[in-house]
Amino acid sequence: MKNQYFSVIKFPVFVSISLILLTALFFFFSVSGYASLGLSLVEKIIYGVIFGVILLLIITWLLVLSSTHRKIKNKILKTYLKWMMFHVYYFLAMVINLLFIQSRVSLWESFLNFNNEIVLTNHLGKKHKKVLLLLPHCLQNSKCQIRVTDDIMNCEECGKCVIAHLKKWANQESVHAAVASGGSIARKLIVEHKPEVIVAVACHRDLVEGTRDAWMLPVYAVLNERPHGPCFETTVSLANVEYAVQKFI
Ligand code: SF4
Repeated sequence: MKNQYFSVIKFPVFVSISLILLTALFFFFSVSGYASLGLSLVEKIIYGVIFGVILLLIITWLLVLSSTHRKIKNKILKTYLKWMMFHVYYFLAMVINLLFIQSRVSLWESFLNFNNEIVLTNHLGKKHKKVLLLLPHCLQNSKCQIRVTDDIMNCEECGKCVIAHLKKWANQESVHAAVASGGSIARKLIVEHKPEVIVAVACHRDLVEGTRDAWMLPVYAVLNERPHGPCFETTVSLANVEYAVQKFI
């Protein structure tokens, strides 16, 4: 229960804490500098710029928070908020995570959940024809000799792994499903299919790297399960995948 709670709130809470700390540090140094020797013109300018940056970070973060439940229509603002989330706030949360000696995995999960909320909000009520279901190679049974990375249609549906069900279900729903064995193949698939939305299945690390890599694109993340450890005969909740894809088609 506690883990589930953290996997939702950790990222937004850690970003907020980092901004509170930055603001507190700023006031501590500026006020103590002013109280002891006063501030020279150069120092006033430097403190002014730092204050402006902190203010911008806070306002932008409030807008990012609001984008989890309110659609941002302005494309430039939307791109700016996404860029800040993936390139600035992600690192701020990582620093706080490091300071509190917390597990990276729950922060990653929270970051992915947070991004999923934004993707859902931005695509609420829209029906998409080009949804790409991106699956990891490790879902495949390790003894299977078929190259599903070339084409998922090669799967002979023997039922020894979830690929069979996902292939059949994606066909029924006219969703393009593909299996990627790594980041470069995933990028190639995205370039080839030019999807409007991507539903990606993978582990925490790969999903965070993938969503950050393709930050301009709407990527909805679904975590896989690893009953045999990482990268080996993993599986995924079919209900979670179907639920995610249904939101966009
Ligand atoms: S379901 Fe498909 S991919 Fe999985 S083991 Fe059978 S043939 Fe191979």
